Amino acid sequence: MLLGCIADDLTGATDLALMLTREGLRTVQTTGLPQDGLDLDEVDALVVALKSRAIPAAQAVDQSLAAAAKLVAAGARRFFFKYCSTFDSTDQGNIGPVAEALLERLDAEFTIACPAFPATGRSIYMGQLFVNGVPLAESGMRDHPLTPMRDSDLRRVLRRQTRGEVGHVAYDDVDKGAPAIRQAFAREKSAGRVIAIVDALNDAHLRAIGEAAVELKLVTGGSGIALGLPAAYRNAGLIGELTPPPSAIAAPAGRAAVLAGSCSTATRDQVQRAIEAGLPAFRVDPMAVADGSLTADTILRWIDRLAKTAIPLVYSSDAPKNVQAIQARLGRDQAGHVVEKLLADVAKALVAQGFTRLVVAGGETSGAVVNGLGVKALSIGPEIDPGVPWTRSLSQLDVALALKSGNFGSPDFFLKAWRYLQ
Ligand code: ADP
Repeated sequence: MLLGCIADDLTGATDLALMLTREGLRTVQTTGLPQDGLDLDEVDALVVALKSRAIPAAQAVDQSLAAAAKLVAAGARRFFFKYCSTFDSTDQGNIGPVAEALLERLDAEFTIACPAFPATGRSIYMGQLFVNGVPLAESGMRDHPLTPMRDSDLRRVLRRQTRGEVGHVAYDDVDKGAPAIRQAFAREKSAGRVIAIVDALNDAHLRAIGEAAVELKLVTGGSGIALGLPAAYRNAGLIGELTPPPSAIAAPAGRAAVLAGSCSTATRDQVQRAIEAGLPAFRVDPMAVADGSLTADTILRWIDRLAKTAIPLVYSSDAPKNVQAIQARLGRDQAGHVVEKLLADVAKALVAQGFTRLVVAGGETSGAVVNGLGVKALSIGPEIDPGVPWTRSLSQLDVALALKSGNFGSPDFFLKAWRYLQ
């Protein structure tokens, strides 16, 4: 195992694992710290998914160091700290402290910070992060409920979180290619900078940065910056041949279901399309769940009456104004919690009855389902749509899972996902 990765949330971890798989690394993802005995013989990269994005910095540091210790013990020689491509963090948090703590733990003096992901509209120019062409502080991230981003200059954002100085490798150097970038790293390091923000506007930049970063023990960034690392590690002789990404995944025989707890636009379109195509659908009313009149049992009895070949869709997805009305009555956390718990209970019961293929929509919802099922480790299979792979549990419980973060996937996602299963 070469590359040990620490991701600050679950769907971000999956996104990174998929990028590494696509670029040729055999990758396994764990939820939380890897358990002893996980077989890593045929694995090039291990991605540990934490839930550390919005917790206090000291806790994020502790969890990340614990993950690093496991990765070192598993034989990792290169390390990656993954955060969001919109650099989600507060002035009190977590990217700077975790990056500095990892540098110290790994006995390294310098790293880079590059959340750029041009394919998804995130680019960095002169240290400023743009989201679909709009400066970060003017994008929707300005009003994010947990991590409002009100400064587009990542050098300033990061410096407010670090003890050490923050440097910058600008477009001029990046565009010249790997040797110039490597020199710029050396220049920043000898000027005493601990972390440098690196500009990147396209995939060629990401590949050149990957090549230049091959000697860095620690790289930090979004999943975009992982694009260039596998080939760079291969060319540097750090790993053997690259492995072509899988085009299908062997899934255990059994029935399939869709569980949707996301209210994002993309998910609501997918629900609509699936209903139009004839998937039997059960709409979950959060108020009925909260007052106890709707339980997992009701849904299981409904599924029991369907044809054994049907793919049931259980969804709570709803329009923003209805979601707000529910939140006003139950409170946001309670509304989220009752729906997540119900869908996790349904997932558990379905798997106990022999369902083995689940599509789950929603980041928090996916976390609840994965925890409910007790799935600790996943192998990464084919990409269904950008950012969403099929995965297969490596735990005792053998299930195929597609964990879709809310806004991902084309409208026919719930209909076409099954094609990639063998
Ligand atoms: P996304 O990836 O789209 O953000 P998440 O699963 O992360 O989806 O978050 C959606 C949240 O909304 C979850 O906590 C879920 O339980 C909650 N939720 C789902 N349906 C409803 C609803 N109809 N009303 C209120 N909250 C809901």
